[in-house]
Amino acid sequence: MTSHHNQRHHDGGHSDANRVTENPHSHGHGHSSEDMLSVEEALERVMASFHTLEPEEKPLLECMGQVLAEDISSPIALPPLNNSGMDGYALLHSDISGASKANPKNLSVIGVVAAGQMPDKTVTTGTAMRIMTGAPVPDGADTVVPFEETDEVERKREGKPLDQVAIFADMPPGCNVRPAGEDVSRGALVLQKGTVVRAAEVGVIASLGLDKVKVVRRPVVAILATGDELEITGTPLTGGKIYDSNSFSVAASVIASGGIPKILGIARDNLADLNARLEATAGADLVVTSAGVSKGDYDMVKDVLNQRGEMNFWSVRMRPAKPLAFGHLNGPAATHGKDIPLLGLPGNPVSAMVAFEMFARPAIRAMLGKAVRPRPVVEGVLTSAIRNEDGRRVYARVEVELKDGTYQATPTGPQGSNILTSMSKANGLAICPEDLPGKNAGDRVQIIMLDWNEEVQV
Ligand code: AMP
Ligand code: MG
Repeated sequence: MTSHHNQRHHDGGHSDANRVTENPHSHGHGHSSEDMLSVEEALERVMASFHTLEPEEKPLLECMGQVLAEDISSPIALPPLNNSGMDGYALLHSDISGASKANPKNLSVIGVVAAGQMPDKTVTTGTAMRIMTGAPVPDGADTVVPFEETDEVERKREGKPLDQVAIFADMPPGCNVRPAGEDVSRGALVLQKGTVVRAAEVGVIASLGLDKVKVVRRPVVAILATGDELEITGTPLTGGKIYDSNSFSVAASVIASGGIPKILGIARDNLADLNARLEATAGADLVVTSAGVSKGDYDMVKDVLNQRGEMNFWSVRMRPAKPLAFGHLNGPAATHGKDIPLLGLPGNPVSAMVAFEMFARPAIRAMLGKAVRPRPVVEGVLTSAIRNEDGRRVYARVEVELKDGTYQATPTGPQGSNILTSMSKANGLAICPEDLPGKNAGDRVQIIMLDWNEEVQV
């Protein structure tokens, strides 16, 4: 992992700029800096293919993180009835005006009402009912006086019957009575279509008595690794091979983005195998491939993808993750089969993850019906330099810490796009704009916060 020739010339290698200008095999597009798409242009082209998916109805708890596909109006009032906010006595406030410890008001207690019961009596002047928190307030009563403001404790201690009570405090009408409909009135619009279901929304929906809800379904993302060098995890590594990590980092990123991953395995670098593997993409909402999109070796992937759909191969003015394929596969032979968008990530593990972050995550959010906004970006200070050698936008893996009110960003070691542990150590991507030669220690930088989601406002 030390020498430059270990790294692909197209992606993350420090010799990149030289190799590009010297390379006689240039494909005539996408490889001079003029032909590179900006990240924004590439994202715009990708996003044009993604729209909110159709709704599904599911048990409430399974809807976490999904977007409501319907307005939720309340079939009931919440709370359904006037109820007590305290353990105490339900009474008429007019019976206790001027009450104090020195001037107690005595009432006769006509019954008890517990939470979950309906009161069996009406409170009239001179009477009260013992009442528990959450219990419906009996007709006639308009106020609840808590036990602490009565002789209840004293009576109990002295073994006196609870058929009388002395009230020690004057309380305004309505005190400690929680009115019916205080939270939600019957028929009210409680949650709007488009709301993301979080724990609080699950609680609110359950409080209305609903056990199922219509949400935008999650997209199924088919994941296909390509490469003769790839070995399946859990098997011994044989000579010249490496483990396929991209299928897993991509699948994990799909889950983190709200999609359902469908790992298709490894396609070998030949037409027959790639074609066979692509059959299993039927029914997916998005296909994400990795590798085989770099200059020199993408022709096979290019041919297959062009045969089966329409594919564009782009260079994006970013480091890592310059080479990117995007297009669609034609649906299965049946004429009604729908086209499936395909995003071809670069093979280098960091490039694959960063390209996923920039292009696949927004696509998945769009299909989920979520607002497509960038991850939160904070301004921080670099603790060591980032170099920009060839006029691309650099996304440097950094560990961000808040120190004395300032976000400090420390690059997580060598920035080669093959060094996946540097991604694991990072919680942010510090940006060096394409038109700067680099950023020095002490410079201010914009940092994409990878562990924060798009809903966080900064
Ligand atoms: P390629 O784009 O096929 O030239 O691959 C670029 C680099 O990424 C090579 O070093 C590959 O070995 C590596 N690579 C490709 N696919 C994977 C994968 N699924 N997991 C880990 N590394 C990969
Ligand atoms: Mg390859």
